[in-house]
Amino acid sequence: MKSEAAPGLALLDVPEPEIGINDVLIKVRKAGICGTDLHIEGWDAWAAATVPVPMVIGHEFVGEVVAVGDNVNDFHPGDLVSGEGHVVCGRCRNCMAGRRHLCASTSGVGVDRPGAFAEYIALPMANVWHHRDGVDPEVAAIFDPLGNAVHTALAFKTLGEDVLITGAGPIGLMATAVVRHAGARHVVVSDPNPYRLELARTMGATVAVDPRATALADVRRELGMDEGFDVGLEMSGQGAALRDMLANMAHGGGIAMLGIPSEEIAVDWNQIVFNGLTVKGIYGREMYETWYMMSVMLQSGLDITPVLTHRFHYTEHERAFAAARGERAAKVLIDWS
Ligand code: NAD
Ligand code: ZN
Repeated sequence: MKSEAAPGLALLDVPEPEIGINDVLIKVRKAGICGTDLHIEGWDAWAAATVPVPMVIGHEFVGEVVAVGDNVNDFHPGDLVSGEGHVVCGRCRNCMAGRRHLCASTSGVGVDRPGAFAEYIALPMANVWHHRDGVDPEVAAIFDPLGNAVHTALAFKTLGEDVLITGAGPIGLMATAVVRHAGARHVVVSDPNPYRLELARTMGATVAVDPRATALADVRRELGMDEGFDVGLEMSGQGAALRDMLANMAHGGGIAMLGIPSEEIAVDWNQIVFNGLTVKGIYGREMYETWYMMSVMLQSGLDITPVLTHRFHYTEHERAFAAARGERAAKVLIDWS
């Protein structure tokens, strides 16, 4: 947990979370480390402005239901579940219209309410996802970021299309497997990190390139893509990547923006206007269509397991965070057994 407003994390004993009548108490089995957790551990300006202390952090997890509130009928002790990390208000216009991923006042599990890097977590029943039989528990532990990948990858039609993914972090890697599964023709992935480029090839990229060494225009020529990419998935948060993407899109193409830039990005808007591009921001996961799609694509053969590169026990949290920060890692799991 983040026990004080300073870099680092502490392993401490805290009271077991209490549940209200609409809540579910979950015993955490495995959790994943996300970039958000690295920001909080490092205590950068965003974390210092956003996260109240003390706070149990973490939001990617799988666990087992151990107790439910009096109003909860659909979850039972022993159920294998994960949690949607955005707790929505339920009362704003979007929530009332069933567009809960667009809620006007979301709170974040492990950011501004207690999270999943703990033996137990309590969540409202509306945030609990019941896993299907046969799901790999390690994959179940990362449904939250897999959901980011799926939400972004399905923002535009990819069947038969040529897709560019900038950024081969855990989410870009999973998106590579998703668009491959969804029937894309060419899937081109760019990232300066050679370890991650190799993983991108394993996940189904047609070509994976370091954008500093290989121009996307050359990749297009080699693949016989005369008019550019039909779909772009921006998953790096880097201005250079977005500009490169804009310069290589087919007219009428769609760009889904997941990457979170740390500063403003200047782009040539002429490319968006004259080429008739659609740029769509993606936040979180659709509740719960994205979760449904994750579950059924896994049942129909989607394989994202190569993204799981490291596993540690919670008592080794410092090593786990060091691995997650390193150049040679994608998704790092923490075991809570
Ligand atoms: P990550 O930081 O592990 O991956 C980003 C990758 O981009 C890295 O591998 C990095 O080497 C690569 N990169 C850097 N410069 C590049 C360039 N010029 N061209 C191509 N690639 C470049 O992050 P992640 O966990 O995979 O998440 C991806 C992005 O999505 C991050 O920006 C993250 O903050 C964001 N995110 C957004 C949401 C949301 O709801 N919108 C949720 C989770 C994460
Ligand atoms: Zn709302």
